[in-house]
Amino acid sequence: MARLELNNLHAEVADGDEKILEGVDLEVQSGEIHALMGPNGSGKSTTAKVIAGHPAYEITEGEVLLHLEENEFGDEVEIDEDQRTWDLLDLEPNERAALGIFLGFQYPAEIEGVTMTNFLRTALNAKIEEREELFEEEEGDEEEEDEGFETSPMEGDVDEGEVGVAEFQQILQEKMEQLDMDEKFAQRYLNAGFSGGEKKQNEVLQAAILEPSIAVLDEIDSGLDIDRLQDVSEGINALRDEQGTGILQITHYQRILDYVEPDHVHVMLDGQIAKSGGPELAEKLEDKGYDWVREDVYGTA
Ligand code: ADP
Ligand code: MG
Ligand code: MG
Repeated sequence: MARLELNNLHAEVADGDEKILEGVDLEVQSGEIHALMGPNGSGKSTTAKVIAGHPAYEITEGEVLLHLEENEFGDEVEIDEDQRTWDLLDLEPNERAALGIFLGFQYPAEIEGVTMTNFLRTALNAKIEEREELFEEEEGDEEEEDEGFETSPMEGDVDEGEVGVAEFQQILQEKMEQLDMDEKFAQRYLNAGFSGGEKKQNEVLQAAILEPSIAVLDEIDSGLDIDRLQDVSEGINALRDEQGTGILQITHYQRILDYVEPDHVHVMLDGQIAKSGGPELAEKLEDKGYDWVREDVYGTA
């Protein structure tokens, strides 16, 4: 059980002084689905990017904490008592990812000659290796390692602790079945000619492979037709149901919430969470729009 906690988070653009987030408070824990809604420009994507550690933003106040449990990563990693709370603002994006934070990149670059399979296995192994380093470092136990020859991570050499090609094929197959995805997908080259819907499905597949504790999905529903929306929604539900991932689902529209039913709904306005509630809040927004929240909070639309 992991818990992500944003306390009074203020952020502005790193190379300017435009304030974007002005005191965000939010908690998401494993197994929960939170919908983060709000009008365009209210700060939803910035919240996502700040959680992941995007360099475009400077944090001027507040904190982002990740609380882990002793057995967070099964038997793979032993977590000491003093390693159970992490200040994410002190960590690099890849370190945050290794601790179980997932932010789907909306449009990963097309990389010639790299199949989805290779890409995903590389990402998984990078996470495993980073995680080992994080927990070793904290223990102050810096063993000399025989690095061997530097090889490209795409070449498929298997180091100790890494997931090898055959093992990965099994994991991939299982996850793709779980997501009801076509097997041929994995043989395709990274993003080459992927449709909008396939990119979104791919984002869910990445999350299924990396098994994050908390996944932030930013407008994964945008531009999907109804069939694809249902597929993607089933995938998101499976992340929660099969591996206990906590979901922060950012969406402008209520529609996906018919398929991915949130436990909590938050409305962001002007860089703050202006209102929180249950699924009924999303339905009220559908009927009455965001102006109603604005009136409620500020007394004027
Ligand atoms: P949302 O996802 O809710 O539509 P964003 O978080 O993308 O909103 O943006 C919130 C506000 O911050 C917008 O006014 C946007 O123009 C501004 N903003 C976000 N990122 C940057 C940036 N890197 N540089 C300048 N302005 C930004
Ligand atoms: Mg708090
Ligand atoms: Mg956005």
